[in-house]
Amino acid sequence: MIETHDISKVYKMGSQTVEALKTISISIDKGEYVAFMGPSGSGKSTLMNIIGCLDTPTNGAYILNNQNVSDLTENELAEIRNKEIGFVFQTFNLLPRASSLENVALPLIYAGYKKSEREEIAMEALNNVGLGTRYDHKPNELSGGQRQRVAIARALVNNPSIILADEPTGNLDTKTSYDIMELFQQLHDKGNSIIMVTHEDDIAHYAHRIIRLRDGVVETDVINENVTRPE
Ligand code: ADP
Ligand code: ADP
Repeated sequence: MIETHDISKVYKMGSQTVEALKTISISIDKGEYVAFMGPSGSGKSTLMNIIGCLDTPTNGAYILNNQNVSDLTENELAEIRNKEIGFVFQTFNLLPRASSLENVALPLIYAGYKKSEREEIAMEALNNVGLGTRYDHKPNELSGGQRQRVAIARALVNNPSIILADEPTGNLDTKTSYDIMELFQQLHDKGNSIIMVTHEDDIAHYAHRIIRLRDGVVETDVINENVTRPE
């Protein structure tokens, strides 16, 4: 599903250059649940941006579902993002004035669905994350965990091939973080592919594979033999 072939990323800032990624070659199959770890500045965000088609590598090839996306234009990348990637953020990134249902339905507008279809599909996505009864609430009427569930429903609504989650529990208390990890586990069990970035070891241990970056290279890439499973 995902293959990176010796990708690198160089940022230029005036006369200075930063080599954020050196030569990263990884392959991630459909249905995998992967955690990226590594210290601040190790290249996690840069790699996630490339995998999520928000940015392209300086060198090397990125193949997503058998298509080379390293050389696509902004518009082509945007189209692939809408179809293939569901994003979940640390800060939820919901529209404050819109209801849960409207937030979840948003990606379907770009996908060209009619209003009645959008509402039906969004409602189903909200039900899938256990928030059907809160469809009419605005983000400030929801707890942090509920907001993240809305964001996850929004990420799922277009049936993306990958869910990319950047510190999905970074703004949540411990109990709520575990609830969100339980939801990810259910999504994984249903066959969704999940890639998340986290600083926290106990969160990473819900994933089935843990890739650690350091200074722009893969330091370790291991199968997690002790997957944390919710009770
Ligand atoms: P993390 O992923 O560790 O939570 P960030 O990705 O926000 O943190 O930032 C990691 C490092 O990258 C920081 O040192 C930050 O200053 C730097 N950084 C991030 N974005 C930019 C940018 N647009 N320009 C310059 N430096 C940046
Ligand atoms: P992480 O997410 O692991 O904290 P990043 O991918 O954000 O790491 O950053 C990797 C390196 O690239 C850091 O040295 C950071 O300062 C630099 N960097 C990240 N984004 C930018 C940017 N937009 N412009 C310049 N440097 C950047």
